[in-house]
Amino acid sequence: MLKIENLHATVGDTEILKGLSLEIQAGEIHAIMGPNGAGKSTLAYALGGRPGYEVTAGSVSFNGTDLLDMDPHERAAAGMFLGFQYPVEIPGVSNLQFLRESLNSQRGERGEEALSGGEFIKLAKEKAALLKMDMDMLKRAVNVGFSGGEKKRNEMVQMGILDPTLAILDETDSGLDIDALRTVGSGINAIMRQPDKAVLLITHYQRLLDEVQPDYVHVLAGGRIVKTGGPELAQQLENEGYEAIAEAA
Ligand code: ADP
Ligand code: MG
Ligand code: MG
Repeated sequence: MLKIENLHATVGDTEILKGLSLEIQAGEIHAIMGPNGAGKSTLAYALGGRPGYEVTAGSVSFNGTDLLDMDPHERAAAGMFLGFQYPVEIPGVSNLQFLRESLNSQRGERGEEALSGGEFIKLAKEKAALLKMDMDMLKRAVNVGFSGGEKKRNEMVQMGILDPTLAILDETDSGLDIDALRTVGSGINAIMRQPDKAVLLITHYQRLLDEVQPDYVHVLAGGRIVKTGGPELAQQLENEGYEAIAEAA
């Protein structure tokens, strides 16, 4: 589904990703762990096509097409969802309005018909219930006045509604208490753990990986993947820290 080969990316004048390669098949959940400043968010942004994150070498194919050739909105319409470490607030736009427009614009881009108001509300209710999110929250302005946990939960409702094939989730666990972590974890499983979908989970901590069990765990250090293993690697990182493992690799 996603094949990243020898990716180099710069932010400003600094090269952050220095030859990163990674392959994700449908049905798989991959976790990327790594120290602060390793380039995890840079990878997410580069894959999303965010301005300011310039790919200088390498290739990325997404379901057989050249991802780097696509605009950010084309990437989203093609089924890529990016969850951010710091979800944005959009004053004056209700969540429901925002979600309906996002969904229908993606459907339009794929040549599919827009959902009617009734169909959309039914879908929103179903996904909100999955994430234990009150419908009243969906009527409020996007993320305005939401707690950190509510923003992350809201982001998972967005993911449920947009129904991507590949979700790239950047520190979705940051700022969550134990209960919210479980809810978000089970939401990710319910929405994304399917044979035709895949997840790239970027996280600092092992905790989320108890809820969403990865098939592969990668360590990102110095702008590349320096080690790959199974779920036991996350436990080893938790116990021994990144430095020892990155140096040994
Ligand atoms: P991580 O998510 O692994 O903590 P980041 O990808 O956020 O790491 O950052 C990698 C490096 O790139 C860091 O040294 C950071 O300071 C730098 N960096 C990231 N974004 C910017 C930016 N917008 N401007 C300047 N430097 C940046
Ligand atoms: Mg960081
Ligand atoms: Mg980051």
